[in-house]
Amino acid sequence: MDAQKLQHFRSILLEQLKQHTENVRGDQATALESVDDGVKDSVDMSVQDVNQELALRLGERESQMVADIDQALLRIDEGSYGVCATCGKPIDERRLEALPTARHDAACQTVIEANDGMDDAPTL
Ligand SMILES: [Zn+2]
Repeated sequence: MDAQKLQHFRSILLEQLKQHTENVRGDQATALESVDDGVKDSVDMSVQDVNQELALRLGERESQMVADIDQALLRIDEGSYGVCATCGKPIDERRLEALPTARHDAACQTVIEANDGMDDAPTL
């Protein structure tokens, strides 16, 4: 991939990183507020618990997104961005436009997702 395209994807990733970092902060603040309210008003405890759970889960997902974006930016620096981590072939640029954090080409992603369905063990 040429430098200009790498720069293009880097700016997309940096913009997404900013956005998701803000989301993570917002979710954590919401989760903490829920804890406060739950202590004050025991009647609403169950609702607050559910809200808190949701906020924390959202936060987890956002944290994962931030980690994925960080990894993608690292791959740009290392020069391995846009190359499938499984088969080493270049990832289609239209795929990267849609999913700038993609680590695999469409063919390998399909295989990985099929395996995920059969086995719930963490891939890391
Ligand atoms: Zn591949």
